[in-house]
Amino acid sequence: MTSIRTYKQAISYLKSMEGHAYNPDNAYGVQCFDLANQYWLYLFNHGLKGVGAADIPTWNNFTNEATVYENTQSFQALPGDVVIFNRNYGEGYGHVGIVLKATLNSITILEQNWLGGAYWTPPEVATRRTHGYDFPMWFIRPFYAKSTKLNAVKSKSKPARKAKANKGKKIMLVAGHGKGAYSNDPGAVANGYNERDFNRKNIIPRVKKYLESVGHTVVLYGGKTMNQDLYQDTRYGQQVGNYSDYGLYWVKKNVKPDIIVEFHLDAASPQASGGHVIISDRYPADDIDKALSSALGKTVGKIRGVTPRNDLLNANVTGRLNLNYRLIELGFITSKHDMNYITNNLDSFTKRIAEAINGRQIGAKASKPKEKQTVWNWKGKFTADRTIKVRKSPGLNGTEVEPRSWLKNGNYVPFDQVIKKDGHWWVRFKYVQPGSSDKDFYCAVCKITDKEQKIKNEKYWGEIVWK
Ligand SMILES: [Zn+2]
Repeated sequence: MTSIRTYKQAISYLKSMEGHAYNPDNAYGVQCFDLANQYWLYLFNHGLKGVGAADIPTWNNFTNEATVYENTQSFQALPGDVVIFNRNYGEGYGHVGIVLKATLNSITILEQNWLGGAYWTPPEVATRRTHGYDFPMWFIRPFYAKSTKLNAVKSKSKPARKAKANKGKKIMLVAGHGKGAYSNDPGAVANGYNERDFNRKNIIPRVKKYLESVGHTVVLYGGKTMNQDLYQDTRYGQQVGNYSDYGLYWVKKNVKPDIIVEFHLDAASPQASGGHVIISDRYPADDIDKALSSALGKTVGKIRGVTPRNDLLNANVTGRLNLNYRLIELGFITSKHDMNYITNNLDSFTKRIAEAINGRQIGAKASKPKEKQTVWNWKGKFTADRTIKVRKSPGLNGTEVEPRSWLKNGNYVPFDQVIKKDGHWWVRFKYVQPGSSDKDFYCAVCKITDKEQKIKNEKYWGEIVWK
């Protein structure tokens, strides 16, 4: 479906967003994603999928809603486009904003959390800022409604949908196997670990902490010690014909969780590596299943995608009871690679898992990337074809030397460094004339016009011969 809004409505709504903080899912933190979501809610009455902004181009089905463009040298954005910055931004999660205006060389966008103000009080508001294009970068251009008299009138009286308060979900985490009333099963054992204890000690408490930090209620099967075995308990209930007081039957009746995740580690030959997600074959994979699968792919690796099964007790029973359930094999306990990865990255790994369950990034840092490189020790000879000011330091504020020492048409200097500053490329050089100062001097050799900001793509104020 095309947007319910015309182009004119979209742009005027977009302009009205500046200076306000948007958090349509009401989840903890006013992230860059929330602004895009608010805009998409206004346009389509539904939000966008993705744990982080960089997921947006591939996790959503934009057929009939929008065109996704990947940036090229000649691409020019349009006001109203949703722009996705790659994973160099937002500490690996990407960044998203909405284009207010654009030229071939830059985009002015509205954005949240560029500075890291997602958790400030008050939070960082939607702010107008100008950025260069980058590679890769994606632009999502909505299909707007055709302008008619009817929708022009309607839009004035109809505000964007208001999200209801998010109280968080009730999430049950289950450690596979266990030492319970009816059994003592360590699960798979290898590399000095057993599945039962490893997940209880290292994985589940961390996932719980991250989920609680964003307002969810987390219930551990078997309580704090997790000293119960969901599989054995459910089986026992079936054996004695009691379908209300044991295992998943008890969970359904007493806990009523919104989400259940059961944790395991796989076992096979030492070469087998990677995790996967198992679901009941009664329901298609949902967003949590897909996000967990993606989180495995971004961390320990995955051996296969989301896998429906009809031969596992807990998957079958939850399928029948209509409980939202999946079992995650975090990797192979028999794989040195997998266990090394997991034990060396416990916090970041469990955070990714928790984010997949949460549906959105937790604790979003600034979208702004860390400082990028601006100085390269590249050598060459620059010959000027016009008069160029010479300075004692690079940049437009560098102190100028006296005009008779500026470069004139035909003068050349050998340089040993190029510097990106103030929209220009600069070179560092020493004068070649005998008796000149032996200090370093700087001059601009061109303006930066290349979209990729590569000096070798520019037209210089003279000639450069690279060494
Ligand atoms: Zn297991």
